[in-house]
Amino acid sequence: MIDFQNVIDTIHNNLKDEVFRGLVADYIPELADIDVQNFGIHLRLLDGQTFATGDWNKKFSIQSISKVLTLAMALPMYPENLWQRVDVEPSGNPFNHLSLLELENGIPRNPLINAGAIVIADILVSLLKNPKEDFLNYVRAVVDDHTITFNLEVAESERLTGYNNYAAANLLKAYGNLENDVDVVLDFYFHQCAIEMNCEQLSKAFIMFANHGTCCLKTNQLSASQAKRINAIMLTCGFYDEAGEFAFEVGLPGKSGVGGGIVALLPNHFTISVWSPGLNDKGNSLLGMQALEQFTTMTKLSIF
Ligand code: GLN
Repeated sequence: MIDFQNVIDTIHNNLKDEVFRGLVADYIPELADIDVQNFGIHLRLLDGQTFATGDWNKKFSIQSISKVLTLAMALPMYPENLWQRVDVEPSGNPFNHLSLLELENGIPRNPLINAGAIVIADILVSLLKNPKEDFLNYVRAVVDDHTITFNLEVAESERLTGYNNYAAANLLKAYGNLENDVDVVLDFYFHQCAIEMNCEQLSKAFIMFANHGTCCLKTNQLSASQAKRINAIMLTCGFYDEAGEFAFEVGLPGKSGVGGGIVALLPNHFTISVWSPGLNDKGNSLLGMQALEQFTTMTKLSIF
């Protein structure tokens, strides 16, 4: 049996004094003041054992990590039509890229770039009675924790500065791939990105992907096949134009957010969350990538 506590403590020690930690995302003004020294790791095994170190219990903005959770909520409700509105190919482009490459006939390349996530947001806005509340309650139910909330300042900060996302949503609307008003869909999207969690909550939220779709939800669980597909999308698209690098260095399906969180998982085994707000030039947590590389190298636990 691997001494997981020792492994994550060693990784934390190896990296905690690193001087070059990347830059916090300041294009969302409300995220610009986060202390770049924060660094936490939380590991959850499928049998419920947990191991944690550093700033694992501080909350941060999950940002694009939410795109996997909206997809997981939408897919069982809209299983056939969803893949007609968004493709499943890696993009090789940054998350906010607008080129027609990403929007072939108005169909975004995948659900984890912003344009694709905005289509998924539109699907949820159409399907849910109270979209923001219903999605927040879904996340709370998945984690079994009713303290999870939106950071309304972050959502507002993004609304005021989200010109790229307005451009993407308008383009999707022009192509006929948004059913609802641009403002309504983006209000939902900015709120989903502004959900706050700590590393422990994030590890719990992603257990369903390590567990063939099964989690503590009473309804709307993913099927094993849907969980497999979402894992494939995380592996190929979860880190934008650095997805190849993440597979190469770490070898796990996972998802990053510009809040500095990364969550990754090994089906049948574990989920692991790392938070360090400094980002590399692709918008992924710099220390987070290094920590996960060390984790899969030290434990030899990866999909490869
Ligand atoms: N809310 C951010 C945006 O839309 C999410 C980006 C990210 O985390 N990569 O720009």
